[in-house]
Amino acid sequence: MPIASINPTTGETLKSFPALTAAQLEEKLHLAAETFRTYCHTPMADRTRMMQRASEILEGDKQALGKMMTAEMGKPIKAAVAEAEKCAWVCRYYAENARSHLADQVVETNAQTSYVHFQPLGPVLAVMPWNFPFWQVFRFAAPALMAGNVGLLKHASNVPQCALAIEDIFARAGFPKGSFQTLLVGSDAVEGILNDRRVVAATLTGSEPAGRSVAAVAGKQIKKTVLELGGSDPFIVMPSANFEEAVTTAVKARTINNGQSCIAAKRFIVATEIYDQFEQRFVEEMRALKMGDPMEESTDIGPLATPQIVSDLDAQVKKAVASGARVLTGGKKIDRPGNFFEPTVLVDVDIDAPVSCEEFFGPVAMLFRASDINEAIRIANATQFGLGSAAWTNDAKEQAQFIEELEAGSVFINGMVASDPRLPFGGVKNSGYGRELAEFGIREFVNIKTVWIAGKTESKSETE
Ligand code: NAP
Repeated sequence: MPIASINPTTGETLKSFPALTAAQLEEKLHLAAETFRTYCHTPMADRTRMMQRASEILEGDKQALGKMMTAEMGKPIKAAVAEAEKCAWVCRYYAENARSHLADQVVETNAQTSYVHFQPLGPVLAVMPWNFPFWQVFRFAAPALMAGNVGLLKHASNVPQCALAIEDIFARAGFPKGSFQTLLVGSDAVEGILNDRRVVAATLTGSEPAGRSVAAVAGKQIKKTVLELGGSDPFIVMPSANFEEAVTTAVKARTINNGQSCIAAKRFIVATEIYDQFEQRFVEEMRALKMGDPMEESTDIGPLATPQIVSDLDAQVKKAVASGARVLTGGKKIDRPGNFFEPTVLVDVDIDAPVSCEEFFGPVAMLFRASDINEAIRIANATQFGLGSAAWTNDAKEQAQFIEELEAGSVFINGMVASDPRLPFGGVKNSGYGRELAEFGIREFVNIKTVWIAGKTESKSETE
C-alpha cells in the first residue's frame, strides 16, 4: 500500500511520501532508546505541563486539524473537529490524573513497608488505523507519555499527514525530540521493528488479522501487547424502551464516522412486539440521511476511506443476499466520483450464516427479530467479537440480565456505545485484550513493581 493521502471524496492524490529507508528507521529507533534514558526521569510536573500544552494546541488548531482528517479519510467535518476536541480532552485528562493513577500504592503486609510502584517500560510501538486518525493515537500517546514511555507511531498508510501532524503537536508542546516519533513505513516493516530489542512493547488498533500478526511476533519476543480489534456490536431494543429515541440513536450508532467505527452498532436485535414498527422507522431514517461532501457542515455521511473498503462492503452485502437476506434500502456503491456507498438495511439475514456475525465496516445495518430477551442475548453473543453492546429497556430486571450476560467489553443501557477518557475501553473474545483510557489504560505499559522492605523486628516464623 503506498504511503499517500488520497482524497476519498474525489479520488485525487493529495500527497505521497516515500517510506523510511533502513538507515532512517535505525536512526529513529536509536533516538527513541536514547531519549527514553532521560525522558523516563522527567518530573511528573514537567510532563503535566507539556501534556496540558498539547491539549491547548489541539483545541487551538481544531479547525485546521479537522480539515486534514476529512481530506485524508472522509469523515464529516463536524465529527473531525469534534475528534480534535476529544483528543484535547484526553490530554487534559491524563495531565490531571496521571500523578494519582501512578502514585505508589501502599499495601499492609507483614513487611515493615510494602507498596506497588509504577515505572515506564521504554519505547512502545503503536500500530494505528485511519478511522479515527487522531483519537486512536492520542488515547495511546497521552497515557504512554505521561507514564514516562516514549512512543513510535506506525500509522495507517492512508493518513500520513495526520501522522506527521501528531508528531508535530507533541514537539510544539515541548516534549523532547524522540519522545514521540512517526515512522512512515508500510505494514511489512512492523515485524522488523517489533523484533528490535529497543522496542519493548506494542499496541495495535485495527483488524483481527493485523492483531493476530502483531501479537504472534510480539509473543515470540515475549513483549507485552494491547490489541483493540474489530467489533460487530449488537444494539438491542426491548418493548419498554423509549422507541423514538432508540430508533434515532440506532441510525446514528450505525452511521457514525460513515459507518467505519469499531464500536458502531452493526446488528440491531429488536423484540418481536415492536419489530415491524422499528424496521419501518429505521429504514425511513436511513433513507433521510444526507450523503455528500464531508467538508460541508450539513453532511451526515461522507465517502468510505478507500476504494478497497467499498469493494469489501459490496462483497459482504452480496454474500448476505446469497445466503437469503433482503435489501430494504441501499445495497450498492453510488455511481459518482469518490468512495460512496448507499446507507443500507438488510433483513432476513440467516443467523447461522457466517456473514451475519462479520464486521461490516460501512453504513450497512442488519436487523434481527427476537422473541424474548434470551433469544436477543443469544443472537447478540453469536459472534467472535466482543467489543461494545447496547441494550434499550426500561425494565430493571432486563437491564441487570443484559449487564451480566452480554459478552462485551462494555454494555450501554439506553445509550450508544462511546469511549470516554474516564472509563476503560477494550474488548473480549476476538475484539482483543487489554484496556485503554482511565487508570487501566495508563497501567498497561508500566512495570508494576512490588516493593518489599523487611522490618528489623521480623519474627523468625514470618521469614521461614
Ligand atoms: P488494518 O488493516 O488492520 O490496519 C490497521 C493498522 O495495522 C494500519 O497501520 C496497517 O498498516 C497495520 N497493519 C495491517 N496489517 C498488518 C500486519 N499484518 N502486520 C502489521 N501491521 C499491519 O485495519 P483498518 O482497516 O485500518 O481499520 C479497521 C479495523 O480496525 C476494523 O476492524 C475496526 O473495527 C478496527 N478498529 C478497532 C478499534 C478498537 O478500539 N477496538 C478502533 C478502531 C478500529 P497499513 O495501513 O500500512 O496497511
